[in-house]
Amino acid sequence: MQKKHPYLRDKLSIEQRAKFQRGTDVGVLAHEYFPNGVDMSPNSPSQFPKKVAETWANLSNPEINVMYEAVFQYNDTLIMLDMLVRDGDRWLAVEVKSSLRLSDTYYNDAALQYYVLHGCGVPLSDFKLMYLNADYVKNGPIDVKQLFKLESVMEYVIEREAFVKENVERSKKVVALPHSPLVNIGTQCNNPYPCDFQGHCWKLVPKNSFLFTTAIDDETLFQNYFNGVNSNAKMLQQLDPNSLEAHQIEALETNSYYIDYKTLYSLAQQPKPKSIAYLNLLLHRPAVPELDGTKPYEELILAFALQGEHEPDGNFVWDCFENQGLWKNAIGLLIEKLSHYEQIVCFTPQNLTTTLLRHEIIQNKEVGYKVFNLFDVLQSAQFYHPAIKRGLTLQRIETALFSEAKLFEHSRIILEATSNDLIGYQQAREDLIAENEIVAKTYQHLFK
Ligand code: SF4
Repeated sequence: MQKKHPYLRDKLSIEQRAKFQRGTDVGVLAHEYFPNGVDMSPNSPSQFPKKVAETWANLSNPEINVMYEAVFQYNDTLIMLDMLVRDGDRWLAVEVKSSLRLSDTYYNDAALQYYVLHGCGVPLSDFKLMYLNADYVKNGPIDVKQLFKLESVMEYVIEREAFVKENVERSKKVVALPHSPLVNIGTQCNNPYPCDFQGHCWKLVPKNSFLFTTAIDDETLFQNYFNGVNSNAKMLQQLDPNSLEAHQIEALETNSYYIDYKTLYSLAQQPKPKSIAYLNLLLHRPAVPELDGTKPYEELILAFALQGEHEPDGNFVWDCFENQGLWKNAIGLLIEKLSHYEQIVCFTPQNLTTTLLRHEIIQNKEVGYKVFNLFDVLQSAQFYHPAIKRGLTLQRIETALFSEAKLFEHSRIILEATSNDLIGYQQAREDLIAENEIVAKTYQHLFK
């Protein structure tokens, strides 16, 4: 699909775009580990052949000791290597990852790079993966030698060479087809990652198909689908009418949502709280620490919005957009503000308890026991709507409960808040309040 019909690809979400940008930023910083290199990045795909030739010429140029994004091609497979560093009469290959630990995906990525480098005959002294050091604490300017860790994967990539070769040959056959392969939708659409072509491939699947349910694993759903169970009615025949799957299909059929009210109400605070605050926290986890005393991906409270009767005009917003160094001021203020309420309602997919514990907010008895995270509550009450197949978000809950949704994602507020732009900051404040209003509306709707 990528080769024959790239235009059919779904639009990237703000969150995905932020993730890619994070990877690029870390990659550029990593260059400082091996400085003064030549950047081989092409401006467009049409430049690849030229860059392959230039990379080759640079290998035998004694003036060049480091190349960034060196381009190699072997057996119709093209790679861009993050860093290639002269090491005596050989070269050290380095691939950079913007994460705190290495996974199989990264090892396999390195194995493909190695396959091409080896095939091209580049003499390698080692192949290393570079990633972020979870123990690094920023103190003054970033010390890249401390920020990054290097791990040799040479043994692994050599061992995987035959596996890579087999898969390259397989992929080449696919790409050589006159059309994209005729493959039905299946579990591969979401595993190991949600595929970017679902908007196209799934467009003939009715919006209320049982394939959008979540109570049964995808493998079983597709087994049924391929065995001729091609309608909700047929699927229902095989189910216990009281099963969660049957309830979810009913919700699909009636274009509504399902919730286990018994569980929902059992989770509500009794007696009914007299004063409720709605809290929207804006947390930021920069891959590269931005403030002294913080580590990679350490969480900062960038802002919070509070809606409640004790706030002037009903709403209060605190933020440190202009000086993130003040973020710890949020903690004392939050404890003080939250202590005026009997219940604090929020919606956060992050483990809020961990966040509040980490910042020593929940240890304050005035606050801890009163937090009511709608995300956890709705999950416990098995809240279901077809839109949440891709995860429970406030926007999707709004679609499910009120058939309307504001066109923003929580990640957009983080982008606004870190935009270094006064208009962005103002927008972030407004969006924080608007998002909190959905939290309040949702809570009031469910517990009216
Ligand atoms: S959506 Fe599914 S069937 Fe379509 S390209 Fe992606 S993985 Fe293949």
